[in-house]
Amino acid sequence: SPIIVWFRRDLRLSDHAALHAAARTGRPVIAVAIRDPLVDALGAAPKWRLGEGLRVFGDALRAAGSRLILRTGDALDVLQRLAEETGARDVWWMRAYDPDSVARDKIVKAGLEARGVTAMSCAGHVLFEPWTVETGTGGFYKVYTPFWKAVRGRGVVAPLPAPSRLPAPDAWPGSERLEDWRMGRAMDRGADIVARWANVGERAAQDRLEAFLDDGIDGYHQTRDLPGVVGTSNLSENLALGEISVAQCWHAGQRARHEGRAGAETFLKELVWRDFAYHLTWHTPHLLTRNWRTEWDAFGWREEADTDEVRAWKQGRTGIAFVDAGQREMYVTGRMHNRARMIVASYLTKHLMTHWRIGQKWFEDHLIDWDPANNALGWQWAAGSGPDATPYFRVFNPVTQLDRFDRDRAYVDRWIAEGQANPPPEALSYFEAVPRRWGLDPDDAYPDPVVEPGEGRARALAAYENRAF
Ligand code: FAD
Repeated sequence: SPIIVWFRRDLRLSDHAALHAAARTGRPVIAVAIRDPLVDALGAAPKWRLGEGLRVFGDALRAAGSRLILRTGDALDVLQRLAEETGARDVWWMRAYDPDSVARDKIVKAGLEARGVTAMSCAGHVLFEPWTVETGTGGFYKVYTPFWKAVRGRGVVAPLPAPSRLPAPDAWPGSERLEDWRMGRAMDRGADIVARWANVGERAAQDRLEAFLDDGIDGYHQTRDLPGVVGTSNLSENLALGEISVAQCWHAGQRARHEGRAGAETFLKELVWRDFAYHLTWHTPHLLTRNWRTEWDAFGWREEADTDEVRAWKQGRTGIAFVDAGQREMYVTGRMHNRARMIVASYLTKHLMTHWRIGQKWFEDHLIDWDPANNALGWQWAAGSGPDATPYFRVFNPVTQLDRFDRDRAYVDRWIAEGQANPPPEALSYFEAVPRRWGLDPDDAYPDPVVEPGEGRARALAAYENRAF
């Protein structure tokens, strides 16, 4: 009987434990992707990006003699029906660690097994299963550096090759059409995002990794903080959908380290930040939804998402160049440089005293590399409410940060058109991408700061001093 492999955030053929195991049996393989309520709940940009990923992945499966079957509905219902239609007795997938997926997968597993269908989940979305990394006293890690020390010397299984051909079933089950899923429906923006489709898929991800190893990794430890240059791997959108596995990146990083390439160790450390985010998500799922340090529930965050200040923040019109450049970059490309993410998040949560959840939600709707664990950890880190977070009293100064990390203004000039005689196309594309109702015009004057850095800092520190905990 055929084996059903359910694809979720693992849109690749190589280093895919479930697909590899299925192909090795020699039995027919039926690949399925399901538009279930969790997919429907995705933010606009990640949903669009998932649609692109599925399209390219479907082509890759066809090239391997297979197909991607698309079905809509509750995951358990869909899989049960597909198993009945095809006579499959096995459904295999790659394990997820975020609470919504975990809850769904438990129900799916129990439901399938109640009907005599074997459900198997395989490891591979992270380097180290969250429950296998334990402190000396048997607990989980809450601080990154000891986590890094605990895992850095560990072995990671060598990546598996892609099956060359996938055995096809006698008859293909029916599939919906990806166009009918209308995954880009909520995207009312982003001409440039659409033009960036060349970065989608496993082949593109492998090319990106190779390009990074060829000439990015040597200076990575120095350039990764400079938003004006291409100094990072840019693999996050591919990692978020599993178009490349983190183990493939890890092994490439380890090879580079053995060759003595200077930035390799820093790259490995960043990959481990991703694992750390999943480690914490697994052990403390409230990381995604509530202050990780619950005492912060008593802090006086502002919770309105539609004040003038928050609107200016969302629209890249705070009058603070680093913040606005970051927001505009994200609006146009679906990605934002890490340094800018930190500044943008700090400005919202400290200068504007606004709850990190409002920023988390905005990012969730606009990032094509949206990752539930990384996004939540990033926000709680910036806000000071998270594990191993930057303390609340450490308020990033967005002006001195610019002097340090964008001294020649390469980044802010790329994204802010106002005041430039000949703004570059990126800066202008922002005005084309935003909805007309925002009423923005590149010929307008650049706004004055909604909150001056010094004033915002003083306000945040006063609130921190007066906190009730
Ligand atoms: P590189 O520097 O090349 O790093 C390689 C990989 O390591 C990344 O692709 C990513 O998977 C991982 N990584 C790097 N930095 C971090 C980090 N700080 N935390 C966790 N993993 C990391 N990352 C996301 O993938 N999705 C998100 O939704 C997301 N939201 C964030 C929100 C905030 C407020 C902050 C401060 C950070 C967020 N990050 C998020 C982390 C980081 O900004 C991005 O992973 C990084 O900018 C991606 O660029 P890159 O692929 O070139 O990374």
